[in-house]
Amino acid sequence: MILYTVQKGEQMNTSTIAALATPPGQGGLAVIRISGPDAVDILKKLFVPAGNQTAFVDRMMMYGHIVLDGHPLDECMAVVMRAPRSYTREDVVEIQVHGGEQVVSSVLKAVFHLGAEAAEPGEFTRRAFENGRIDLSQAEAVMQLISATGQQAADAALRQLQGGTLRFVKKAQTELISLMAGVTAAIDYPEEIKEEEAVGAIAPDLIRLADKLLAACDERGAAVLDEGLRVVICGKPNAGKSSLLNALLMEDRAIVTDIPGTTRDTVEGSIQLDGIRIHLKDTAGIRDSEETVERIGVNRAREAIKSADLRLMVLDIGQKPDAEDEAILRLIEGMDNLYIFNKSDLPEHPGFSDWLQGQHIPKDETMTLSAQLGIGLDALRARLRAAAGNPGQNALTLARHMKLARQAAEALKRAAQAMQDGLPLDLCAVDLNEALARLGEITGDNFSEALLDEVFATFCVGK
Ligand code: GDP
Repeated sequence: MILYTVQKGEQMNTSTIAALATPPGQGGLAVIRISGPDAVDILKKLFVPAGNQTAFVDRMMMYGHIVLDGHPLDECMAVVMRAPRSYTREDVVEIQVHGGEQVVSSVLKAVFHLGAEAAEPGEFTRRAFENGRIDLSQAEAVMQLISATGQQAADAALRQLQGGTLRFVKKAQTELISLMAGVTAAIDYPEEIKEEEAVGAIAPDLIRLADKLLAACDERGAAVLDEGLRVVICGKPNAGKSSLLNALLMEDRAIVTDIPGTTRDTVEGSIQLDGIRIHLKDTAGIRDSEETVERIGVNRAREAIKSADLRLMVLDIGQKPDAEDEAILRLIEGMDNLYIFNKSDLPEHPGFSDWLQGQHIPKDETMTLSAQLGIGLDALRARLRAAAGNPGQNALTLARHMKLARQAAEALKRAAQAMQDGLPLDLCAVDLNEALARLGEITGDNFSEALLDEVFATFCVGK
């Protein structure tokens, strides 16, 4: 990629790039996207509009044929979006052909033959950023939106795409710049502005700003948004774990039998509650086993139990819990758990509540239900929904942004502390500049090729 200026917003690529913008393989349609100074010329050499119209009106869909060496190759639609009113702010052409591998490969080959280069992963979006149409957080939102698996994740990505993160960061930058102006004034005019007064006025605001940035960093929420809430169902064999998983998934995903230990490996599925994906994993019993297959399952179960966001521990109220139940209780102690007292349709074993009294299980972490009859499942779904929180509401939802916001907040707190400790204001200014630089990396005000390479490496070709 050749750039002839270095200022963001003024860069113009001299090359023309092309790629398939839709997934490869067979499909009803495939869209080939071309961007750059030669995009329209390339289209004109390939595409013959119906009725021989030659106007190629901007952003008007045209019907016609792709013709190569005098042979019609496909019947298709094409649209021209001239700079700067396009996705990349360059001349962009999109051709909708039939989604066959042969058609796509012939058209792309012809496009490359006519001078376009194969686009790198994310290069269209990268050009949109480099040409100043979107900031870096918006560019990342494109990928977030494409990979969203729940409605809340998609909504959050769209908000970010529409500038939600950009506005939040810009506001923080504006506040910081005005506080920095106060520091500069105190440095430049020591006779007029008393240092203690400046510190008294500025340091608390720096801390407030740092706290605002930290409040926007909810890594757990972001992970829930990205991957869903990871819930593991544990308990000893026959407690009703598979039945509970099936009931929640409303399908026969796990095999339900009454021979203890049948569910040897983890079985999983996911549901959506209120636009949030909830991954449910059923685990093998945690008991020690001689049998290799079962032992592998047990080890996997232990790992899954530890790494989950929430554990549903299933107990059979028709039985007096024993050492095996207690071993699982000890394993999950201190984690976020929900204790499911299952088989509420059966008479409770007289020893169950006595046993319960001897345990340290908080009452509000327990639920009584019948997986088999579906009694109490709505309440359980509500608890799962509540456990996921409202991750889509945060201004920052990407790990890269949160890391930078935390670094900015730390620098602000260091500056405030240094001020309060009476260190020279010039020293504090170094930390404030550092904070401003970190915020700038979120939006891409400050960027390096390495940063862009890192961000766009996660994209796929054609985006
Ligand atoms: P797992 O080994 O913990 O996965 O347990 P399963 O889900 O395979 O259930 C073991 C046995 O308990 C099966 O016979 C289920 O039909 C039965 N079971 C599960 N849940 C309930 C329930 O709520 N009520 C009753 N009466 N039986 C249940």
